[in-house]
Amino acid sequence: MEEIKNIRFGCLVKKGRAEVHEMPLAEVKDNQVLVKQLECNICTADYTQWLGLREHNGYPVSGGHEASGIVIKKGRDVVDLEVGDFVAIANNYCGSCEFCRSGRESECKVRASYDEHGIYKGRMGFADYFIRPVTSVIKMNNDLTPGEAAFLEPVATVVKGINKLRLKPFEKVVVIGAGTMGMINAMTVRAYGGEVIVSEMMENKLETAKKAGFTTVDPTKDDAVKKVMEFTDNKGADCVIVAVGNTNANIQAAKMLKKMDGRLLVFAANYPPPQIGITANDIHYRRMEIIGTYLADLKEFLEASKLLNIHKIDVKPLIEKNKYYLDDINEAFKEASSPGKYRVSVLLHKD
Ligand SMILES: [Zn+2]
Ligand SMILES: [Zn+2]
Repeated sequence: MEEIKNIRFGCLVKKGRAEVHEMPLAEVKDNQVLVKQLECNICTADYTQWLGLREHNGYPVSGGHEASGIVIKKGRDVVDLEVGDFVAIANNYCGSCEFCRSGRESECKVRASYDEHGIYKGRMGFADYFIRPVTSVIKMNNDLTPGEAAFLEPVATVVKGINKLRLKPFEKVVVIGAGTMGMINAMTVRAYGGEVIVSEMMENKLETAKKAGFTTVDPTKDDAVKKVMEFTDNKGADCVIVAVGNTNANIQAAKMLKKMDGRLLVFAANYPPPQIGITANDIHYRRMEIIGTYLADLKEFLEASKLLNIHKIDVKPLIEKNKYYLDDINEAFKEASSPGKYRVSVLLHKD
């Protein structure tokens, strides 16, 4: 194995400025793997930081959490991963706190401590090499590209939401928003046997949804509620997934639901916080369920790896053609932040 002394990683140093910094590579401990990270996709959480919308998190941010790569070294306690295995990055968790022990790894008491690297804070997805606990990487199939495998985390968060929604086969589901997360929601609902109609205002995203085979509605041109009624034989949708953080979308969602027992999944946040736009009486008389979701636990990461590995969902259309080398990471953030973009990938090695 080539001798690696320093790792190079992308980090945000201030609003609108991403740079490449270096730090020494540590020793690989018994329960860790050294991953040669290949690609990391820029998530909304990353570029909103670049845009300065989450400055409360402070700088420098060594973020990036949608990454994949190859195991090039492993500690002696690592039993079911080999050098050469292709992996994607999952969340860190300790495995021993009360939350981890009850299957709620996303609430791990010490989760944040894994993101502290001296003055830098973040998941280090934009590093060319990184040492990770074996518990926070998941094996992926070699026939996925690094950019596709890097979708493990966003797919896991979608699986979490759909599990919370208790989706049943053949249910009719509206997904509002055909951005990256809306599209993953639509694809996953379809993979689980639901029938989907996608509502989207932006032309290029509408086109992506259509090309992926979804029935679509453009609320700027059509009466979206009426369209949903047609799609559902005038019954209304069993579920609406709101994958945009927008008050009007939430108001429409409640109107699209079936009269009784509809379920509304609030998938996205925004700043300032959007309103739901319905009263307690609406929820009471219509026996409506409002379900929130955020992050994913280990079991959803495993489920998400299956969805990707057996090609039950195809995330290729959700990756922008233009890819950027690590040295050009600031340009990558610029593109990722411009309207209408799907995931922009950063290539962490030139060969
Ligand atoms: Zn993400
Ligand atoms: Zn824990």
